[in-house]
Amino acid sequence: MPNATTFHASKHLGESDLGVVQTRCLFCDADDRVAVTRLQADPDVDLMKCRSCGVCTASRIPTVAALETYYTGYYERSGNDGPGDSQVTFKHVNRFAGHLAGVIQGALSPGPLNILDFGGGDGTIVLRMAEQLVAAGYPEVVVTVVEYHDAVAQSTCEAITMRHEPSLDALASVAGTFDIVIASAIIEHLPDAKTETERLLAFLRPGGILYVRTPFVVPVLRLMKCFGLRLDFTFPGHIHDMGQGFWEGYFSTISPSGPHRIVHSQPSIVETAFSEHFFRSLVAHCIKLPWRLLGRRYSLVGGWDIFIQKSP
Ligand SMILES: [Zn+2]
Repeated sequence: MPNATTFHASKHLGESDLGVVQTRCLFCDADDRVAVTRLQADPDVDLMKCRSCGVCTASRIPTVAALETYYTGYYERSGNDGPGDSQVTFKHVNRFAGHLAGVIQGALSPGPLNILDFGGGDGTIVLRMAEQLVAAGYPEVVVTVVEYHDAVAQSTCEAITMRHEPSLDALASVAGTFDIVIASAIIEHLPDAKTETERLLAFLRPGGILYVRTPFVVPVLRLMKCFGLRLDFTFPGHIHDMGQGFWEGYFSTISPSGPHRIVHSQPSIVETAFSEHFFRSLVAHCIKLPWRLLGRRYSLVGGWDIFIQKSP
């Protein structure tokens, strides 16, 4: 499964790689936006924060062709063979899968589950989640991983079926049938993120659960700037930055298909385990901890996790 650290290099884009300057928010259409930071110069691209919905988006969206070149180059440079080939550790896979399964168990009563994992890499995390759900009493789980990868992890458990599709287009005939849709660290990479978010919602049956995880680094970036430090935003891989205020507002008021019920909304879970990366884990936990006390007033969380239940 891709994560926010998978695409960790910025690339300077030329004039022909970029769309026109966006004058309005891609999500809520407001024109009240303020520049947060410059992502690149000549041609200039700024990160714009919408004062209405809170999303941060690049002032010029990369073209589809430019993004294809960027990702192809990334895989060739790094030796990765796809977005799923990230450095997720075994312990992280278990923790993350356990987190997803736990929230789903609280929201959907046991029964057969049909899961769509969009941008799910080789399916390792969703497979572990499916195993945990079967162990918790869900009798059958069918998982469709939509990904650049052409192979997905397979299960030895008879109750779990793993499928692979290269794009969502092939699934148009089964829209409205999925119990769970997973979009973990993928929406921030999509040029037309609003359309794609609504498309993912359309794949859910009424009452189904959508899980979204996105980076939310702008507050961290601003703080570092105060100390003269610069955080690489990894544009054009990272186009949108989305946190608590944005996502809760999106699913409550902006989504054309909503409002949807927010099941669970919290800072994204720490990606490393204490036993494997002690100091990194400690720092990550400490940075996120004040949110427990301060809630929305504290935004130095690095990423956001939200589960919503599609309105009937
Ligand atoms: Zn907006």
